[in-house]
Amino acid sequence: MDFAIPQEYRDFKETVYRFAKERLAPQAQALEAKGEFSWDNWRQLADMGLLGLPFPERYGGSAASPLATCLAMEALAHAGVDAGTTLSWGAHTILCGLPIWLLGSEEQKARYLPKLCTGEWVGAFGLTEAGSGSDAAALQTTAQRQGDHWLLNGSKMFITNAPIADLFIIFAATNKAAGNRGISTFLVERQCKGLSVGKNLHKMGNRTSLTAELFFDQCEVPAENLLGTLHAGFTGVGKETLEWERSCMIAPVIGGMEHMLEVCASYAKERRQFGQPLAAFPAIQHKLANMKVAIEGSRLLIYRVAWLKEQGQAAMQEAAIAKLIASEAANRVAYDAVQIFGGYGYIQDYPVERFYRDTRLSTLGAGTSEVQKIIIANEMLKAFWQHGA
Ligand SMILES: Cc1cc2nc3c(=O)[nH]c(=O)nc-3n(C[C@H](O)[C@H](O)[C@H](O)COP(=O)(O)OP(=O)(O)OC[C@H]3O[C@@H](n4cnc5c(N)ncnc54)[C@H](O)[C@@H]3O)c2cc1C
Repeated sequence: MDFAIPQEYRDFKETVYRFAKERLAPQAQALEAKGEFSWDNWRQLADMGLLGLPFPERYGGSAASPLATCLAMEALAHAGVDAGTTLSWGAHTILCGLPIWLLGSEEQKARYLPKLCTGEWVGAFGLTEAGSGSDAAALQTTAQRQGDHWLLNGSKMFITNAPIADLFIIFAATNKAAGNRGISTFLVERQCKGLSVGKNLHKMGNRTSLTAELFFDQCEVPAENLLGTLHAGFTGVGKETLEWERSCMIAPVIGGMEHMLEVCASYAKERRQFGQPLAAFPAIQHKLANMKVAIEGSRLLIYRVAWLKEQGQAAMQEAAIAKLIASEAANRVAYDAVQIFGGYGYIQDYPVERFYRDTRLSTLGAGTSEVQKIIIANEMLKAFWQHGA
C-alpha cells in the first residue's frame, strides 16, 4: 500500500492553489454577496484547463486522472474560492462532460466536449424532479420516439447551471412500465424547441452558482442525442457519474475544511479573552483538533475512491462512505468554525458565515446522508446474501 502522492500531482495541486488564491479567492466574498455567476472566474478556469480536467487532450481536455481532478478541486476550495464556482464546475465537468466522455458516441464527444472544455458552452445535469429527489427512479419526465427525434415532456427541479447552460443531460422514462430499467438519458441543447428554463431559485448558500427548474413541452430532441444505451436506467450514466460526483465533486469539501481550519487557527491565536489567546483554551484546541481529524479522515476516503476509479474499478459503496463522512464532517467543522469566531462568526463580513451556509448543501446534493446509508447497507447486504447468511 502506497499513500505517497506523486510529486507531479503535488506540483499540480500547488499550481492550482496559487492560481486560485491570487486570481479567484479575492473576489469570493463580494461575488457571494451579489449572488451572481462569475463569467470572469469561468474564463479563468477554462484558461487553466480546469473545465475539461479529466477529458482527453484530443477533445481539448487536460487528461487529468481522477486523483489529480480531486486534488485540483480541493486546491480551489482550500484557496478560498466561493463554493458556487466549484459547484458550477462540478455540474459542468463531472455531471455533464464526464458521461459524454465515458458513454457518448464519437460524434457526441467530438461535438460537445471541445465546447465544454473551452467554457464556450456550459453544461448541466437534470435528474431530480419536484416529486422525485432521493427516489430518482420515480421520475415522471417521459421521452417518446417520433420519427427521427424524441419528444420530451415533464420538468426537472434544482438544476445547477440551468439559467446559463447550453447543454443538459436529461433523464427521462422511455418505458414507464419498466421503472428503473425503462429510463434513458438524452443530450438536450438549449435551443431545442419546447425547452424552457424557470426563474433562478434563491439559495441559502452557493449563491454564485445559479439553479433553476426546467420544463419540457413536446421538446424535440434529435434521435442521435440519446446518450448511452436505451433503457440503461441508472446502471450507465447514473452510476458512473455518481461515483465521480461523490469523489471529485465532493473534494472541495476537504479544501473548504482546510481553509476553515487555517482561518480558525489564525483567529484563535489573535483573539484574546480572559487575558489569553483563544488558542490557549483546551475547548478551542479540541475544536481545532477535531477539524484536523475530519480533514485527514475525509481526505483518505475520497482519495481511495479516486484511486479505485483510476484502477477502473467500481466504487459505489466506497463513494457513498466517503461522501457521507466528508459531508457530515464538514458540517461539524462549519458549526465549530462559527463557534470559535463567536458573535463575529454570525456576521457576513467573515468567511466562516459563508462557509456555514455553503456547507449545508453537502449532505443534501449528490444523494442525502440518509441515501448514502441506504446505498452502504444495500451493498453490504448484497455481499452478505451472496456469501450466504
Ligand atoms: C443547490 C442544489 C443544487 C442541485 N443541483 C442538482 C442538479 O444539478 N441536478 C439534479 O438532478 N439535482 C440537483 N439537486 C437535487 C438534489 O440532488 C436533491 O435535492 C437531493 O437528491 C434530495 O432530493 P429532495 O430534495 O427531493 O429530497 P427528498 O428526497 O424529498 O428527501 C427529503 C428528506 O427525506 C429523506 N429521505 C428520503 N427518502 C428516504 C428514505 N428512503 N429513508 C430515509 N430518509 C429518506 C432525505 O434524506 C431527506 O432528508 C440540487 C439540489 C440543490 C439544493
